[in-house]
Amino acid sequence: SEPGKGSAFHFTARFSLQQKDGWPAAPVKGGGCVPQTPTTIVGKRVTVLLVEDNVVNQKLASRLLEKAGHTAVVAETGRRAVEILESQTFDLILMDVQMPDMDGFEATAEIRRREEASGGHIPIIAMTAHAMVGDQERCREAGMDLYVSKPIRTEELFAAMEQALAVSVDSAIC
Ligand code: MN
Repeated sequence: SEPGKGSAFHFTARFSLQQKDGWPAAPVKGGGCVPQTPTTIVGKRVTVLLVEDNVVNQKLASRLLEKAGHTAVVAETGRRAVEILESQTFDLILMDVQMPDMDGFEATAEIRRREEASGGHIPIIAMTAHAMVGDQERCREAGMDLYVSKPIRTEELFAAMEQALAVSVDSAIC
Protein backbone atom coordinates (compact mmCIF):
# COMPACT_ATOMS: atom_id res chain seq x y z
CA SER A 1 0.00 0.00 0.00
CA GLU A 2 1.09 3.54 -0.69
CA PRO A 3 -0.55 6.56 0.94
CA GLY A 4 -2.57 8.49 -1.62
CA LYS A 5 -2.08 5.81 -4.28
CA GLY A 6 -4.05 2.90 -2.97
CA SER A 7 -3.48 -0.79 -2.36
CA ALA A 8 -3.18 -3.88 -4.50
CA PHE A 9 -4.68 -7.13 -3.30
CA HIS A 10 -4.00 -10.55 -4.74
CA PHE A 11 -6.01 -13.63 -3.97
CA THR A 12 -6.73 -17.10 -5.24
CA ALA A 13 -10.31 -18.32 -5.31
CA ARG A 14 -10.94 -22.03 -5.60
CA PHE A 15 -14.18 -23.11 -7.22
CA SER A 16 -15.78 -26.46 -7.67
CA LEU A 17 -18.20 -27.11 -10.48
CA GLN A 18 -21.61 -28.71 -10.26
CA GLN A 19 -21.70 -32.18 -11.75
CA LYS A 20 -24.48 -33.23 -14.06
CA ASP A 21 -24.93 -36.74 -15.38
CA GLY A 22 -21.48 -37.64 -14.17
CA TRP A 23 -19.75 -35.01 -16.27
CA PRO A 24 -18.12 -31.76 -15.21
CA ALA A 25 -20.11 -28.64 -15.85
CA ALA A 26 -19.26 -26.22 -18.63
CA PRO A 27 -16.29 -23.93 -18.01
CA VAL A 28 -16.95 -21.05 -15.66
CA LYS A 29 -16.92 -17.66 -17.31
CA GLY A 30 -16.40 -14.57 -15.26
CA GLY A 31 -13.97 -12.07 -13.89
CA GLY A 32 -12.82 -11.15 -17.37
CA CYS A 33 -11.10 -14.51 -17.75
CA VAL A 34 -11.18 -16.45 -20.98
CA PRO A 35 -11.42 -20.18 -20.26
CA GLN A 36 -9.04 -22.29 -22.30
CA THR A 37 -8.98 -26.05 -22.38
CA PRO A 38 -9.93 -27.62 -19.03
CA THR A 39 -7.09 -28.24 -16.64
CA THR A 40 -6.06 -31.85 -16.46
CA ILE A 41 -4.10 -33.58 -13.74
CA VAL A 42 -1.70 -35.03 -16.28
CA GLY A 43 1.64 -33.70 -15.17
CA LYS A 44 0.04 -32.01 -12.17
CA ARG A 45 0.73 -33.24 -8.69
CA VAL A 46 -2.21 -33.46 -6.36
CA THR A 47 -2.49 -34.27 -2.69
CA VAL A 48 -5.01 -36.98 -1.96
CA LEU A 49 -6.59 -38.06 1.30
CA LEU A 50 -7.03 -41.80 0.94
CA VAL A 51 -9.68 -43.04 3.33
CA GLU A 52 -9.50 -46.82 3.44
CA ASP A 53 -9.49 -49.37 6.26
CA ASN A 54 -8.11 -52.29 4.29
CA VAL A 55 -4.31 -52.41 4.40
CA VAL A 56 -3.96 -54.12 1.01
CA ASN A 57 -6.20 -51.54 -0.65
CA GLN A 58 -4.33 -48.72 1.13
CA LYS A 59 -1.05 -49.93 -0.33
CA LEU A 60 -2.48 -50.53 -3.79
CA ALA A 61 -4.07 -47.10 -4.07
CA SER A 62 -1.11 -45.27 -2.49
CA ARG A 63 1.25 -46.94 -4.91
CA LEU A 64 -0.87 -46.01 -7.92
CA LEU A 65 -1.04 -42.41 -6.79
CA GLU A 66 2.61 -42.09 -5.89
CA LYS A 67 3.75 -43.68 -9.16
CA ALA A 68 1.85 -40.93 -10.94
CA GLY A 69 3.63 -38.30 -8.84
CA HIS A 70 0.76 -37.61 -6.47
CA THR A 71 0.93 -37.52 -2.70
CA ALA A 72 -1.32 -39.79 -0.64
CA VAL A 73 -2.12 -39.46 3.04
CA VAL A 74 -3.92 -42.47 4.48
CA ALA A 75 -6.79 -42.30 6.97
CA GLU A 76 -7.84 -45.73 8.26
CA THR A 77 -11.39 -44.75 9.13
CA GLY A 78 -13.98 -42.12 8.35
CA ARG A 79 -13.56 -40.58 11.76
CA ARG A 80 -9.82 -40.30 11.26
CA ALA A 81 -10.40 -38.61 7.88
CA VAL A 82 -12.60 -35.96 9.47
CA GLU A 83 -9.90 -35.35 12.11
CA ILE A 84 -7.10 -35.06 9.53
CA LEU A 85 -9.16 -32.57 7.51
CA GLU A 86 -9.26 -30.26 10.51
CA SER A 87 -5.54 -29.56 10.14
CA GLN A 88 -4.60 -30.40 6.54
CA THR A 89 -5.90 -29.47 3.10
CA PHE A 90 -6.18 -31.81 0.14
CA ASP A 91 -7.03 -31.58 -3.54
CA LEU A 92 -9.39 -34.51 -3.36
CA ILE A 93 -10.55 -37.43 -1.23
CA LEU A 94 -10.77 -41.09 -2.19
CA MET A 95 -13.36 -42.55 0.15
CA ASP A 96 -13.93 -46.21 0.88
CA VAL A 97 -17.56 -46.97 1.65
CA GLN A 98 -17.34 -49.79 4.18
CA MET A 99 -15.26 -48.89 7.21
CA PRO A 100 -15.53 -49.41 10.96
CA ASP A 101 -16.58 -46.58 13.31
CA MET A 102 -17.65 -44.13 10.61
CA ASP A 103 -18.34 -45.40 7.10
CA GLY A 104 -17.79 -43.52 3.85
CA PHE A 105 -21.35 -42.23 3.64
CA GLU A 106 -21.29 -40.87 7.19
CA ALA A 107 -17.82 -39.37 6.80
CA THR A 108 -18.79 -37.66 3.55
CA ALA A 109 -21.98 -36.29 5.09
CA GLU A 110 -19.94 -34.95 8.02
CA ILE A 111 -17.36 -33.34 5.70
CA ARG A 112 -20.13 -31.71 3.64
CA ARG A 113 -21.86 -30.54 6.82
CA ARG A 114 -18.64 -28.83 7.94
CA GLU A 115 -18.20 -27.27 4.50
CA GLU A 116 -21.56 -25.58 4.90
CA ALA A 117 -20.01 -23.57 7.71
CA SER A 118 -16.50 -23.17 6.29
CA GLY A 119 -17.27 -22.91 2.58
CA GLY A 120 -15.57 -24.86 -0.19
CA HIS A 121 -16.25 -28.23 -1.73
CA ILE A 122 -13.53 -30.83 -1.86
CA PRO A 123 -14.07 -33.45 -4.57
CA ILE A 124 -14.87 -36.84 -3.00
CA ILE A 125 -14.62 -40.01 -5.05
CA ALA A 126 -16.21 -43.07 -3.49
CA MET A 127 -14.53 -46.44 -3.85
CA THR A 128 -17.20 -49.05 -3.65
CA ALA A 129 -17.02 -52.81 -3.72
CA HIS A 130 -20.74 -53.32 -4.06
CA ALA A 131 -21.59 -52.45 -7.62
CA MET A 132 -25.25 -52.55 -6.81
CA VAL A 133 -28.07 -50.72 -8.51
CA GLY A 134 -28.74 -47.59 -6.52
CA ASP A 135 -25.21 -47.39 -5.17
CA GLN A 136 -24.34 -44.43 -7.34
CA GLU A 137 -27.47 -42.67 -6.12
CA ARG A 138 -26.54 -43.33 -2.50
CA CYS A 139 -23.04 -41.95 -3.06
CA ARG A 140 -24.52 -38.84 -4.62
CA GLU A 141 -26.99 -38.37 -1.79
CA ALA A 142 -24.18 -38.59 0.76
CA GLY A 143 -22.38 -35.78 -1.06
CA MET A 144 -19.84 -37.78 -3.05
CA ASP A 145 -19.06 -36.40 -6.48
CA LEU A 146 -18.14 -39.59 -8.31
CA TYR A 147 -17.45 -43.21 -7.64
CA VAL A 148 -15.14 -45.92 -8.86
CA SER A 149 -15.64 -49.63 -8.33
CA LYS A 150 -13.26 -51.91 -6.51
CA PRO A 151 -10.90 -53.49 -7.20
CA ILE A 152 -9.39 -50.17 -8.25
CA ARG A 153 -8.27 -50.02 -11.85
CA THR A 154 -5.64 -47.44 -12.70
CA GLU A 155 -7.40 -46.09 -15.76
CA GLU A 156 -10.77 -45.75 -14.07
CA LEU A 157 -9.25 -44.09 -11.01
CA PHE A 158 -7.29 -41.49 -12.95
CA ALA A 159 -10.23 -40.80 -15.26
CA ALA A 160 -12.40 -40.13 -12.21
CA MET A 161 -9.70 -37.91 -10.69
CA GLU A 162 -9.42 -35.95 -13.94
CA GLN A 163 -13.15 -35.50 -13.97
CA ALA A 164 -13.37 -34.49 -10.33
CA LEU A 165 -10.57 -31.96 -10.69
CA ALA A 166 -11.50 -30.59 -14.10
CA VAL A 167 -11.69 -26.92 -13.36
CA SER A 168 -11.07 -24.68 -16.31
CA VAL A 169 -10.53 -21.60 -14.11
CA ASP A 170 -6.89 -22.61 -13.55
CA SER A 171 -6.04 -22.45 -17.23
CA ALA A 172 -7.93 -19.25 -17.94
CA ILE A 173 -6.12 -16.28 -19.44
CA CYS A 174 -6.75 -13.31 -17.21
MN1 MN B 1 -13.48 -51.03 3.73
